[in-house]
Amino acid sequence: MKLLTVITVILLSMVLSSCVKEQDYGQVVAAGLSVLIAVTLDEAEVKKTAHLSALEMDRKNHIAPKTSRYAKRLARITKDITIIDGAHFNYKVYLNNQLNAFAMPDGTVRVFSGLLDAMSDEQILAVLGHEIGHVKLKHSYNQMKKQLLTSAAFQAASATTGAIGDLTSSELGRVAYQAVNAKFSQSDELQADKYALQFLRGRGKQPAAMLEVIYVFQARLGDSGGFLSSHPSNKQRIEAISRAL
Ligand SMILES: [Zn+2]
Repeated sequence: MKLLTVITVILLSMVLSSCVKEQDYGQVVAAGLSVLIAVTLDEAEVKKTAHLSALEMDRKNHIAPKTSRYAKRLARITKDITIIDGAHFNYKVYLNNQLNAFAMPDGTVRVFSGLLDAMSDEQILAVLGHEIGHVKLKHSYNQMKKQLLTSAAFQAASATTGAIGDLTSSELGRVAYQAVNAKFSQSDELQADKYALQFLRGRGKQPAAMLEVIYVFQARLGDSGGFLSSHPSNKQRIEAISRAL
């Protein structure tokens, strides 16, 4: 197998170069794998993992049936945003009371029914703009890539098969969980907010809807929880959005 051959060559050359003590062997193996995977893990592979973990996530959640009012409403809100600058996005509603939504690097976007209950169409579009911003600005891609590169299960699966499709469903579930509970940097969050403002403007909507979204979250959850759990403080976001408006 090509990957194993390369690993073997690296290990052999390290052993032959004589500076490897026997007890360091395990560390060398681990180091060799990380280097190789960093090289071979390309964008298509990250997106493929995202797709597989999204399937796993969908399997574990209650998806609103297509004929439900939730699914119909989200389909109406998203009918013009399934392709954005050539990138495909797919949307579904999870029947879940939480105020939340998330996006994955492959263009998977999921909205919780609790969010639909709490917000107007324009406000939902603002949340979607923010989430799409994380995808378009590669925040979610970078985060998933980093996660995969530090995942022992991912490294093991890649080392034996050279492919990422062999992660177990529980590992894929873990990848999906990280995407749902993504912790982005403060600057990523503020950038995604700005993206949302442009996104709304470009669609003839009121960019102030993004500000309203923060107020709805603040009223319902205070400074933490759901969409805002890992974000900068509401005050900071409100200030930044107000300046951009
Ligand atoms: Zn965010």
